[in-house]
Amino acid sequence: MIHKVTLIPGDGTGPEIMETVRKVVDATGVQIEWEVEEAGCDIMAKVGTPLPESVLESIRKNKVAIKGPITTPIGTGFRSVNVALRKELDLYVCLRPCISYPGVRSRYQNIDLVIVRENTEDLYAGIEWSMHTPEAKEVIKLSKNKIREDSAISIKPISRTGTSRIVKFAFDYAVKNHRKKVTAVTKANIMKCTDGLFFEVAREIAKNYEGKIEYEERLIDNMCMQLVQKPELYDVLVLPNLYGDIISDLCAGLVGGLGVAPGANFGDTIAVFEAIHGSAPKYKGMNKVNPSACILSAKLMLEYLKETEAAKNLDDAIKEVFRKGDSVTYDMKPFPNDPSAVGTKEMGEAIIKAMKNLSKVSALSK
Ligand code: NAD
Repeated sequence: MIHKVTLIPGDGTGPEIMETVRKVVDATGVQIEWEVEEAGCDIMAKVGTPLPESVLESIRKNKVAIKGPITTPIGTGFRSVNVALRKELDLYVCLRPCISYPGVRSRYQNIDLVIVRENTEDLYAGIEWSMHTPEAKEVIKLSKNKIREDSAISIKPISRTGTSRIVKFAFDYAVKNHRKKVTAVTKANIMKCTDGLFFEVAREIAKNYEGKIEYEERLIDNMCMQLVQKPELYDVLVLPNLYGDIISDLCAGLVGGLGVAPGANFGDTIAVFEAIHGSAPKYKGMNKVNPSACILSAKLMLEYLKETEAAKNLDDAIKEVFRKGDSVTYDMKPFPNDPSAVGTKEMGEAIIKAMKNLSKVSALSK
């Protein structure tokens, strides 16, 4: 079967990473017809928008996409294309498995955590006003002057609908993947209305899984400490958007860094696969950064496309390259300037070579 997949190269180091991803996926033998769509800073310079409508159309049509990272200007400039994509396509789940691979340098071993981050609400909803704007003044008036006049304001919406569907996804994922526990994480002691609602809804949903999946709650500050001290106590974590974003990077750090941390965004009918990391613009065009997080995201895509054998072969090849440790990028070496580090392209080639070698070995043993 031929799968049609939208491929968004992204910007910064995105295009060089995604070129490698495409070669690696093609080498699995799975038949994919790639539809390449540009989004981000580079296309913004050409057509005046960082997210042309054709990108959304292509994803709506193909239902599956894989994307490289896209830069978001800090403070000013266009809003995040990544956030816009998730909102436009209602990709309400951000799934981020953080799993230790042998050979990847880290302070921890045997980490096996799954982060389920809500993707459409919270402070990421983009409802905010600069200081002294009429809207900011209106909110300040509504607050009965509890807010300083020279404040900029962001609004944090958390809904029953948004919370129910993300928590339900987390529990269903736990059941399907033979997990034992779901931990909901917020700061409900302080944000009693918004985070309080998240816990309230999570408790209601958890009741439907009693006897099958354990449920517990943690406050985000305590969770950060617990994950650093006792990560083995946790299994599936479900969080509102902002906490989910921060905890994702923390958990990526537990398994060896952003270079090896994959992810996927799901709506009810559409899936967009992307790594946790950003566009690492300082390394743009240097053939330097690690393609593994995006290749592991492609592995999640192959699983989603039900190309189970190809996904497993790819995973085995990645594991082999990690285990050997010679054809890996700078971030996986003991020192960043290690002269034996290879480039993005070469690490991809090593994974393709490992896939070929492993398939020869398995053919011989049959
Ligand atoms: P970043 O993830 O790009 O980089 C953080 C650090 O990790 C840097 O030191 C970088 O060198 C390193 N790093 C990142 N990816 C790596 C890889 N594949 N291999 C080796 N090292 C890697 O985060 P940032 O610097 O905060 O963000 C840069 C830009 O990316 C910003 O504009 C941000 O908004 C955007 N961003 C995009 C996405 C996305 O597209 N989904 C996600 C996060 C950040």
